[in-house]
Amino acid sequence: LARSVSCRRHVSTSPSTQQSCMSAWVIDQYGSNGVLKYSEEAALPVVKSPCEVMIQVHAASLNPLDLAMRGGYGAKLLKLKRDTASVMNQDSEFPLILGRDLSGVVVDCGSEVSEFVPGDEVWAAVPPWKQGSLAEYVTLTEYEVSHKPQSLSHTEAASIPYVASTALSALVFAGGLCRDSALNKRVLIIGGSGGVGTFSIQLLKSWGAHVTVTCSHNAEGLVRGLGADEVVDYTPGDIAQRLEMMEKFDVILDNVGEDTEQWAMDLLKPWSGSKYVTLVTPLLHSTDSLGLLNGTINAGCFLCTKAAQVMVSKGVFYRWAFYTPDGPALDEIRRLVDAGKILPVVEAQFPFTQVPQAFQKMEQGHARGKTVVQVV
Ligand code: NDP
Repeated sequence: LARSVSCRRHVSTSPSTQQSCMSAWVIDQYGSNGVLKYSEEAALPVVKSPCEVMIQVHAASLNPLDLAMRGGYGAKLLKLKRDTASVMNQDSEFPLILGRDLSGVVVDCGSEVSEFVPGDEVWAAVPPWKQGSLAEYVTLTEYEVSHKPQSLSHTEAASIPYVASTALSALVFAGGLCRDSALNKRVLIIGGSGGVGTFSIQLLKSWGAHVTVTCSHNAEGLVRGLGADEVVDYTPGDIAQRLEMMEKFDVILDNVGEDTEQWAMDLLKPWSGSKYVTLVTPLLHSTDSLGLLNGTINAGCFLCTKAAQVMVSKGVFYRWAFYTPDGPALDEIRRLVDAGKILPVVEAQFPFTQVPQAFQKMEQGHARGKTVVQVV
């Protein structure tokens, strides 16, 4: 492993043995875009355990979670996950690096890493309790990393891992769908034009499901191009009535939240194992406002009560879904990407110098796929 650089960005693929810092966008406090700060003195995330892989980031992408975390969302629970010893003390999580997706090149491996060697091109979704990818380097466990699709550039590849891991968690673990069981299943994706939606349409179509999507009228061409069978514009306002006229669904993936649950639950086939899966949950808001213990209990009670009510009154399962780190799942996605069955949907690209502008773009909403930051 050639180790030959100074502490500056864009200079080489691997850090020098003396190097202890790197370039990154960090926050030292929670807040709006003004808290984002470019630093050349962020701590270098060296390999500390035998199963870790150090990656030079070539491209990263942003998710709604980055905006939320910039403002302090999930701070209590994520801090606990970062360092379980921090439950009882006030040690700071700052400087914090945001950015959940990466595509890059392995520069160092722990002694027990078996799947990767320096020089390998990889992609990964960085768990929110780890330092993020708006940085020169990220260190993850081998399990969290996967070989990047050969057919994609780093910019394209960085648009996929976090939404793919989330969609798999939602559709497979919560929704009970998989490659072998999804054929002809009727799936409704509420909010199909953003990161999770555009990926989920393609994954479900590759599995043979029938996919109905709700989105704004100006996203219809995009989602149809990705394979959506039926598209319903939510903007005129009578969406529930129009969806009620359709055959009922086996699975609903809710990427929007708000009042969706109030009208969408009746769209599922009753007493046939159908599932309502939402990605918009109150868990982290609850732990932020009520504290770890009370917040978790509160959210848990809410979920159990609601799931029981929904099962008794409507005969459908009600589930929350969360992003889950899963390198082997990304291996499966790589095969679909390289087979041309899943395309990256990159809406906007920003250079590493313009990370605040990338956040501004995200803040405007109305995503049509992903916003990517080119780090190298
Ligand atoms: P994006 O911001 O990429 O996309 C959201 C999309 O929803 C936009 O295209 C937006 O376009 C559309 N939209 C907004 N309002 C509606 C509506 N009423 N009906 C239909 N479409 C609508 O978000 P992601 O796809 O990345 O994530 C989706 C949600 O899932 C977010 O709330 C995110 O926080 C959450 N999430 C949760 C995770 C978890 O672990 N629980 C992990 C990942 C994401 P337009 O406004 O133009 O219609």
